[in-house]
Amino acid sequence: MIKFSAVPVLAMLIAAGPGQAAPGDAADARAILEKGVAFDTVKGRGKVPAYAEYLKSALVGAGFAAGDIAIEPVGETANLHLVWKGKGNKPPMAITGHMDVVEADPKDWVRDPFKAIEDGGYLFGRGVGDNKFDVSMVVATLAKLKSSGFVPGRDIHLFLSGDEETDGTTAVLQAKQAKAAGVDFMLNSDGGGGALDTGNTPIGYGLSAAEKTYVDYRITVTNPGGHSSRPTSPNAIAQIGTAAGKISDYRFKPQINHITRASLTAEGTKIGGAMGAAMLAFAKNPSDAAAIATLSAAPGGIGQIATTCVPTMITGGHAPNALPQKAELTINCRIFPGFTVAAVTQELRALISDPAIKIEAVLEWPSPPPSPLRGDIMAAVGKAVSANRPGVAVTPVMDSGASDSVFYRALGIPSYGTSALFMREEDAFAHGLNERIPLAAIAPALRHWQVLITELAK
Ligand SMILES: [Zn+2]
Repeated sequence: MIKFSAVPVLAMLIAAGPGQAAPGDAADARAILEKGVAFDTVKGRGKVPAYAEYLKSALVGAGFAAGDIAIEPVGETANLHLVWKGKGNKPPMAITGHMDVVEADPKDWVRDPFKAIEDGGYLFGRGVGDNKFDVSMVVATLAKLKSSGFVPGRDIHLFLSGDEETDGTTAVLQAKQAKAAGVDFMLNSDGGGGALDTGNTPIGYGLSAAEKTYVDYRITVTNPGGHSSRPTSPNAIAQIGTAAGKISDYRFKPQINHITRASLTAEGTKIGGAMGAAMLAFAKNPSDAAAIATLSAAPGGIGQIATTCVPTMITGGHAPNALPQKAELTINCRIFPGFTVAAVTQELRALISDPAIKIEAVLEWPSPPPSPLRGDIMAAVGKAVSANRPGVAVTPVMDSGASDSVFYRALGIPSYGTSALFMREEDAFAHGLNERIPLAAIAPALRHWQVLITELAK
């Protein structure tokens, strides 16, 4: 159980405005984050249920009834679902996050990945950013609001999933529970967020309102094989190589939606130059060939204007002196929102145009359209961002996929990535080695969630 310390430390750096609830205590929030990192909630280790119990104890310690928090086992992992009953008759809102983390091999890390360690103003540890930072900040904020007597004007559902980084099965269950509860919209703590320049000056905040669909394809060729001294045609490795070349060179038809139009316009205006001009030109006319050429040539541009598919893994053959009996290629695609996996499969099949080659989608998410840019959400996020960083613009963005939001959007629940974390590009090591967050991010994050939740649950 968490003890809520009587001495706020970093939180005092940010004064509460008149009539506003004070944000949660930074020392308490940091303790929740540090304890959370110590649960190595990697797939297969069975630690998510214990972490869920720990978070539940923090919420119960702040005054929530144990009966309002369900921990549902799902295989070796688990889901956490808190229902905070509100007054009034607005439909419920939901906040989501995930409790699992990506694998981390201690041998490769400078520090123990499953111990939160402070160093040089940062907190290091696997999951300290993705997604235990925002999960801890949300839990600390809800706890603080509860213990200070706040009563929401609508029901608030907190859904924490247990396998976002791998199978994504737990969020499917929670999205259905959200739908059944009549949830009006969802705030995903594992999406969006702010950017700082190298000098820690905020340069913008991205509100994630759309997501590309992640799909892996397995492309296989099998041949009878034979002795390498008696070559025959076709050769399985050559067939797969030809297919890989075609896919690598292929460009899907450019697309635009209301989210990418807004983000390209904002980004283009900000960055200027040839790239900025191309973004603005494309936003105005998505068939502008020169703009498409410029954007397609940039790694950060091509994914924003079209579906992309790239070869990522290849295997084949079984002996140096034998004709290959089998060759296999993995293609990873990020499908533009609203387009189906089936349509992309068909396009790849036509492109490869070799009936001997088998194409199958091995891992796929749904492909829902973007969420609408609702006035209430935009206003609340704007207020939360400017509470910490006045004048910083909120720009709608499309993520390259995939998060739990797709399962909610697929059921028609508008979903928004609203992480409270502001990071410098060079500090972003989510999924990678030596993941870290700046300790100075904690106090503003508590303010962010406190404003967001109290605004939307007035
Ligand atoms: Zn994540």
